[in-house]
Amino acid sequence: MAVFGGIEAGGTKFVCAIGAGPEDVEIIEFPTTTPAETVERAAAFFRGRADGLAAIGIGSFGPVDLDPQSPTCGYITDTPKELWRHFDFAGAIRSVTGRPVVFDTDVNAAAFAEHRWGAARGLDTFLYITVGTGIGGGGLANGKPMHGRMHPEMGHVRIPHDLAADPYPGACPYHGDCLEGLACGPAMEARWGVRAENLPEGHQGWALEAHYLALGLVNWICTVSPQRVVLGGGVMRRGVLYPMIRNQAAALIHGYLDPPDIVPPSLGERAGVLGAIALAQSEFR
Ligand code: ZN
Repeated sequence: MAVFGGIEAGGTKFVCAIGAGPEDVEIIEFPTTTPAETVERAAAFFRGRADGLAAIGIGSFGPVDLDPQSPTCGYITDTPKELWRHFDFAGAIRSVTGRPVVFDTDVNAAAFAEHRWGAARGLDTFLYITVGTGIGGGGLANGKPMHGRMHPEMGHVRIPHDLAADPYPGACPYHGDCLEGLACGPAMEARWGVRAENLPEGHQGWALEAHYLALGLVNWICTVSPQRVVLGGGVMRRGVLYPMIRNQAAALIHGYLDPPDIVPPSLGERAGVLGAIALAQSEFR
């Protein structure tokens, strides 16, 4: 069976893997430092096995250029992480390993893994949403990862914000109170003075969080018509959110359509790096 490499590139850590799927994979992780040093650490991991790797998939933090017609396809673009800005990430991995590289966002990679092995198996149109340090969204539409001009930035949709009920101005450096600005983990911490994972069960913060996430979900459900929504990320580890979000989303849709299932991911922390392997497989099977 062919073996693939995978890289889940995050702003604070890199996760690299060699394998063929969840039952057969070797994973390492290390901190994200400079591009040269970080790429070298990844290359060192792949080097011994590089001849045996059919391809390497990368799921990267962004924004990234995914346009195959663009001269900077495979680059990280205007990231706040200055050292990585305008870095030819796919090209660097291709040149140090000599293997074909498939490049996509971290969110689309995780969506791919859930499609191949997890909670979105057998579906051709679904959303994968992650709620943590930020809010990201991706998925497949008609069997293909969502790209378009760049890639979806679902966390930055604008939603109603009742300033009398919630005077917190929002955490997004670009928009203030976009969905990410109101509902990411750091926004919860700034609003309530305690990290989301330490907010007690029954605290009003959870109902407000479910309200904002349901507003975002209803917009995406009406736009994309997904067969299912896979909703994960650090904030969603508080399972009480799922029934609250389902109820609020159904109330907002108000009988107009039958809402799709809203479910947790089934691959957990490994979804990103397994997704990078799935990306590589999808192109080279
Ligand atoms: Zn924003």
